[in-house]
Amino acid sequence: MDGGYSQRRVGIIGGGPAGMMASIYAVQNGAEVTLFEKNPYLGKKLGITGKGRCNVTNDCDNAEFLKNVIANPKFLYASINNFSTQDTKSFFEGLGVPLKTERGRRVFPVSDKASDIVNALKNCVLDYGVRVVNQRVISIVTEGTRVTGLRTETEEYKFDAIICATGGASYPMTGSDGDGYKFARELGIEISPIFPSLVPLETKEDVSCNMGLSLKNVTLKIVDNKKGKTVFSELGEMLFTHFGLTGPLVLSASSHMREMERGRYTAYIDFKPALDFSELDKRVISDFSKNINKDFCNSLGNLLPSKIIPYMIERSGIRPDAKVNEITKVQRKAFVDTLKGLSLEITGFRPLREAIVTAGGISVKEINPSDMQSKKYKGLYFAGEVIDVDAYTGGYNLQIAFSTGALAGMHASWGE
Ligand SMILES: Cc1cc2nc3c(=O)[nH]c(=O)nc-3n(C[C@H](O)[C@H](O)[C@H](O)COP(=O)(O)OP(=O)(O)OC[C@H]3O[C@@H](n4cnc5c(N)ncnc54)[C@H](O)[C@@H]3O)c2cc1C
Repeated sequence: MDGGYSQRRVGIIGGGPAGMMASIYAVQNGAEVTLFEKNPYLGKKLGITGKGRCNVTNDCDNAEFLKNVIANPKFLYASINNFSTQDTKSFFEGLGVPLKTERGRRVFPVSDKASDIVNALKNCVLDYGVRVVNQRVISIVTEGTRVTGLRTETEEYKFDAIICATGGASYPMTGSDGDGYKFARELGIEISPIFPSLVPLETKEDVSCNMGLSLKNVTLKIVDNKKGKTVFSELGEMLFTHFGLTGPLVLSASSHMREMERGRYTAYIDFKPALDFSELDKRVISDFSKNINKDFCNSLGNLLPSKIIPYMIERSGIRPDAKVNEITKVQRKAFVDTLKGLSLEITGFRPLREAIVTAGGISVKEINPSDMQSKKYKGLYFAGEVIDVDAYTGGYNLQIAFSTGALAGMHASWGE
């Protein structure tokens, strides 16, 4: 102590976007910061975001941002007000990374390189004099209801405050393998059950014959069979895999399927969303008239990608070698129905390790939203995906990491 002021020592677990932003804010607010990252380098997951392009935020206002948060948006009110999407943009542009805005207000570096975002953040952390320790933290040390430090595999460190920014449990090879939940469990902090979000979907029907086929400009609709309502319907791009479906539309759809159980959801693919039923029927009649003496299987080349024709024929119930002129009106209408809504029963999500985001996590009831501090332990803060908050695609998940990281870093350096 010197004259009542002592620099607070802050330990941050996790060198992802939340931990790095927390480090910067903690230093800016006067703390001495040590950042623990078990990988040999910072921002491993950040480096693979947005298919290597990093959709770093969304160019929207706070209200719109909160609308795109699925779990516990109100919890993020203070953090987004403190560090908004516009602050993210200014932050990176200020670090010399020019940004551009694409469809859906998604913000990317002009270079299309996630590594530019990682390097800017990492260099900023280092320029601020943050001490980076490349070790795995194995536990958080407490005395009564106050944190006093942490242990790595080899050493024990004393801190006035600790920020747990360990990420979720998806893509575990990036380092985010659920340690934060373990720490919380050991401290008796409640965790909301974790499950995958923004994840590929498995189907009951074997669609492996279509594997690798990418469909553009189709509409994917998801119906919740229990509630009898459509929970998702969007136009875009998707892909068939050996297990079912993936691609941007499918990942987005998955975050609207929160009560996943076998048989609960059915996907409908509209191959021709620009045409209504009768317009498409006319188009099929016209195609048939040009191929009147051909086999059914040879008459669909102008209507569908060739790879999926055998599957669609099988689903139509019409014999592939039936002559087009033998097809009845009822059969044709049923075929048009299939084109307007190929139904696939969803049996489940792909495993958490394949999910873009982990839903669930440290219960928001355990954290004070105005400073990200644990309600049970003084000096313990949480930031990023480890918390039970998650959002749709569009740059919102990284924004959650930046906003909660900034708020936690600031308050951890001020103290309670
Ligand atoms: C393929 C993919 C693409 C994505 N694309 C986007 C996108 O374009 N836009 C978007 O908004 N979101 C995207 N996301 C989601 C986004 O990457 C995450 O929400 C975000 O990285 C979460 O940040 P975080 O700092 O909370 O956690 P993480 O980025 O997961 O970082 C946590 C860090 O903590 C470290 N750590 C964990 N445990 C310990 C320990 N015990 N000791 C020391 N270190 C530890 C980990 O090694 C890791 O580096 C994508 C995710 C994936 C998987």
